[in-house]
Amino acid sequence: MTQQPSAEGIQRSLFDQTKPAMPHGIWVPTLTADRPNRSGSAAVEYVDSASVLTPGAGFTKRFKFTLNPYSGCRFACEYCYARFFAPSVEDQEAWGEWVRVKQNAVDLIERAKRSRVAARRLESGDAIYMSSVTDPYQPVERKIGLTRAILEALLPVQPRLTIQTRSPIVTRDIDLLRQFRRIRVNFTVTTDWEEMRLRYEPHCPANEVRLEAAQELVTAGVPIGISISPMLPMRDPATFGRRIAALNAAEYVTQFFKPTRSRFSAGSTAAALAKMREDGWTDQRYEAARVAIQRALGPDKPLLRDAEGYAPVPEHNEPVEQLHQAGMEKHSTARG
Ligand code: SF4
Repeated sequence: MTQQPSAEGIQRSLFDQTKPAMPHGIWVPTLTADRPNRSGSAAVEYVDSASVLTPGAGFTKRFKFTLNPYSGCRFACEYCYARFFAPSVEDQEAWGEWVRVKQNAVDLIERAKRSRVAARRLESGDAIYMSSVTDPYQPVERKIGLTRAILEALLPVQPRLTIQTRSPIVTRDIDLLRQFRRIRVNFTVTTDWEEMRLRYEPHCPANEVRLEAAQELVTAGVPIGISISPMLPMRDPATFGRRIAALNAAEYVTQFFKPTRSRFSAGSTAAALAKMREDGWTDQRYEAARVAIQRALGPDKPLLRDAEGYAPVPEHNEPVEQLHQAGMEKHSTARG
């Protein structure tokens, strides 16, 4: 049996590294990139994928495409629904122990820009959700920079881009994120209680680290969302609500554990649901936490629920664009 590393150890090993200088330009994996074959205890493989832009469906149906640079996810959250979309039962059972890098992703995006088929063509203003079944800023991204190369390929098109992540590595790409006119980085923040974070998602960055990264994006003028999903047992939801209110996110949304599955939405794992019961984390406690957070957010910041959230960045979104503009001015002043 492997011993669980301490919280501090995980943070040091995965996230408290200095930011590398990322080269600009398209990722050319066979020539220039470092190609690690491990990410922690996960095996890393490099594959040619048939597609990287997939039509939105289920909770992403309002997006033209979902975009997953990787399959598999080293964060290995115990409750992860994405494991049920892995290609084989073996892959589902070994979730978190493998990551496949879609090494032809940039090429596929370039082809999508030229596609003659409207449904497959990537055009200005298309709503993209990155990512639905992986984290585009999981630890291996720090070394190989595939998500960064994808951003560079998307920039000339100016899609309406939503990035969903729980990783502070996203701050490395602030220079690119600021160049998207319609963008939102949704941070998944699950609890204010580090003990619970370690119990359900020991390989993920601490929630405080995520909130600090969110603040860094806001300061740089990049609009954010806060997805409390799934909400894990909370210690002090009122204080947490005040903490996230101060970020002035463009959207706040919560989800509870999902006990059931459908064609496009997988449920949480049996192991996670069992822990939830052990922890006495019930619908009623979730609803009470929602009330406390909403009260702390105040009437101007609605706390959305499930599919009410995760909307694509609007075509014309003046408040967000104003925030973007204000942040950019603040950022450039701060940088002199
Ligand atoms: S970060 Fe997201 S995709 Fe990755 S294991 Fe956790 S829930 Fe699943």
